[in-house]
Amino acid sequence: MAELSRQHGDALPFDRLAIIGIGLIGSSIALAARRFALARRVVLFDISEEVRREAALLGLGDEIASSFAECVRDADVVIICVPVGACGAVAAEIAPHLRQGAIVSDVGSVKSAVIKSVVECLPAHARFVPAHPVAGTENSGPASGFPSLFVNRWCILTPPHGADADAVSRIRAFWEGVGANVEIMSADHHDLVLAVTSHLPHLIAYNIVGTADDLQSVTQSEVIKFSAGGFRDFTRIAASDPTMWRDVFLHNKDAVLEVLARFNEDLSALARAIRWGEGDKLFELFSRTRAIRRGIVSQGQETAEPDFGRRKL
Ligand code: NAP
Repeated sequence: MAELSRQHGDALPFDRLAIIGIGLIGSSIALAARRFALARRVVLFDISEEVRREAALLGLGDEIASSFAECVRDADVVIICVPVGACGAVAAEIAPHLRQGAIVSDVGSVKSAVIKSVVECLPAHARFVPAHPVAGTENSGPASGFPSLFVNRWCILTPPHGADADAVSRIRAFWEGVGANVEIMSADHHDLVLAVTSHLPHLIAYNIVGTADDLQSVTQSEVIKFSAGGFRDFTRIAASDPTMWRDVFLHNKDAVLEVLARFNEDLSALARAIRWGEGDKLFELFSRTRAIRRGIVSQGQETAEPDFGRRKL
């Protein structure tokens, strides 16, 4: 890892790293860039004055800029860390201030829509490398970041056709430097894969917690009082940032609706199996899914602890 391997006097991969959006991901990148010595100077900007104040108090980065222009001026790399629906507007704000050959990247959970909105705003001399670190928590805001968030997690790069090879390899090196494993794929493929592995599970969690809340026959206090492990795990996911997830669903509409249709069919098949007492069908599915869980744990993407090791009380 960079922290262990970088020798005193080695050139840092980036000179001036600019981060726009100081939430969970932006603050984690700032902390990780410093921990793993990946940039000489880290400068951050957020549209919210309150967030900028908090980031300054937390000592995130070397400088909290007071405008888009001030943040990206002279930056050799800019990482956009705002909700996907705001990426295009941010690209338009920074475009006139980017230095010649600046690398622009992002961390959006949806790729095709972000690429479309960003590319049309950037100047021809900027080099865009879209990225998505598949790492996160249900928390948001500048105080929620931590430098090891990306260690042993995947970061997917979706460079458009003809993307600058040097820029792609530098962004790849950056993510490897913060401890992530990097994979490259097309934006459309990313959006379909993530619709299955991330977006649909969030939609189900939001729905199940909403349904439990709406059920008139069970009071809310009983839902909370008797929340068993299954329901509790859904509430953790359903506590994720509403703005971020609203934008994910609106900007990955086609892929989400496609996997949701398939999910609904499978759910109907399960309902039929329950109705007709087809225990073998249920048992076969539950055995298959148990093996998937064990595979995820054995690949180090999750812990086997009952609370997923997320809270040490
Ligand atoms: P977050 O904690 O809510 O932070 C986003 C920050 O961006 C907020 O401080 C927000 O300010 C600010 N912002 C919004 N619009 C802006 C604009 N136009 N210009 C400048 N700043 C702006 O969100 P996050 O979890 O870090 O997510 C950021 C991005 O990472 C999203 O695209 C998301 O899809 C992606 N991502 C998230 C996760 C995850 O698990 N959270 C994982 C991987 C990737 P306000 O609060 O004032 O709106």
